[in-house]
Amino acid sequence: MNHNDMPADEKEWRKRLSPEQYKVLREGSTEQPFMGKFLKNKDKGKYICAGCGAELFSSDTKFDSGTGWPSFFDANSSSVELRKDNEFGMSRVEAVCKKCGGHLGHVFDDAPHTPTGKRYCINSCSLKFKKK
Ligand code: FE
Repeated sequence: MNHNDMPADEKEWRKRLSPEQYKVLREGSTEQPFMGKFLKNKDKGKYICAGCGAELFSSDTKFDSGTGWPSFFDANSSSVELRKDNEFGMSRVEAVCKKCGGHLGHVFDDAPHTPTGKRYCINSCSLKFKKK
C-alpha cells in the first residue's frame, strides 16, 4: 500500500476499518485483554499496520508477557513513533504508526528478561500479519 492510498479523512477511515479497528487506531482505545487474534501467534513474519500497511514489528521480537496483549521487545523505529501520553493521569509512552498516525498501544519498561527491557504492548486489531 502506498502513501496515496491513505484515507484523507476520518469518514474514509470509518469505511476502511472495522468498528473495533477504528476505535483503537483512530480513537486510541484498548482492546479487551486475552481476546486479540495475535496474542498466541507464533508464526514467523512481519506485523504491519492495519490502517496503512507499514511494517511495524517482526515476529523475532515477540514474546509472551502474560499481560493479555501481543508484546514485542522492539519495534521498527522508522515506522513506529513514541509519544508522551498523560491521559487518565498516567504518564505513559504511546506507540503510534508514523505513516498514518494510528494508535498501536503503549510501551513499558517492565520486561527485564528481554534484550531491550521494553514491552511494546500492542492491540491485535491495530495489526495485520504477513507470514514469512
Ligand atoms: Fe499506519
